[in-house]
Amino acid sequence: MPLHPLIGHLGARRRLAKAAGTGKLPQVLLICGGTGVGKQRLALWLAQLVSCEQRGEEPCGNCRACRLVGTLSHPDVHWFVPIGRPKASDPDKQVEEAAQVLAQVMEERRSQPLYSETEGTAIHGIATVRLLQRRAALTSVEGGRRVFIIAEADRLVPQEASQEAANALLKLLEEPPPGSLFILTTVDPSRLLPTMLSRAIPVRLGKLTDGEVREFLETHVRPRPSAEELEQRVAWADGSIGWALASGEESGRAYQAARQLLEGVTAGPGPSLEQALRQAPWAARGEFTAMLDALAEMLGDAARESVGQQPRRAVPQSLRRHRSPDPLLKAMEHVADAREAAWGNVNPQLLLAVLGQELAEVL
Ligand SMILES: [Zn+2]
Repeated sequence: MPLHPLIGHLGARRRLAKAAGTGKLPQVLLICGGTGVGKQRLALWLAQLVSCEQRGEEPCGNCRACRLVGTLSHPDVHWFVPIGRPKASDPDKQVEEAAQVLAQVMEERRSQPLYSETEGTAIHGIATVRLLQRRAALTSVEGGRRVFIIAEADRLVPQEASQEAANALLKLLEEPPPGSLFILTTVDPSRLLPTMLSRAIPVRLGKLTDGEVREFLETHVRPRPSAEELEQRVAWADGSIGWALASGEESGRAYQAARQLLEGVTAGPGPSLEQALRQAPWAARGEFTAMLDALAEMLGDAARESVGQQPRRAVPQSLRRHRSPDPLLKAMEHVADAREAAWGNVNPQLLLAVLGQELAEVL
């Protein structure tokens, strides 16, 4: 199954196409932008563009190179995604294992191109870096550019990757082999190793428009959502295809509702808080408690991150300014109280209003 078409980001596409067309494309790019806006999809689009035999402003989609990239089978396009820690103990076996796991992920993405979020514990460990190093040392199979996509580059764990491996990667980024292109993606550039950050030229992606998200849902989600569901999912998605997809599941909706509530609360009194407190369509009490659970989980992750531990999921920007876990733990207590009250016969909207006030005071 070929990839779904890239949606939106026309400005970035034009700039990249112009740079590629005039031979001025930097060899190391860092695509930054919110969850699910299409960073890795844009990286693949660029891989297709630089490999395409037609050399236009957009990949033609029909030539051999375009088709190979579109089915994730181009031998010179290497897509590295975070994976679990290898089980083998021998370093060479670990590299083999990483290659196998990555091949399996690609197989899954070929059959299901609309993938969901990576698991929180997945990383780019030392085996992945060694594999990347080995592949970067090879010559082009098809005779054109070689592209290395390092998705969620902030998951390169420096203490996991030995100093030697980290240095090897930095050297690759500092002096990329001729004809190679490295595309890193991240939600949050500040989490990248500073040395990596300094070597990459940023490409910033904004949110998609509601119209773009709507069109995506209409075209790609089956069974087709009803008109009402469609509008609700567009609102939940908040400019992200990732969220639009997740909004088809209860856990995704709960997470997104919790995120919007936190954004409203941390923005201070005003329209966004009002909106956050009002908009949640609590069809059932279960959805409300699922949102509270997601909220507690998010606060827990932020508390973990504030003491230097790895969060299980990406922490919303609005929670990342806390340098101590105390306010976050206090906020978790308020959520736990609301969770308990939610068992009783209390109106969720009323509970939410009270909780919103309490969170605003501590966060
Ligand atoms: Zn083409």
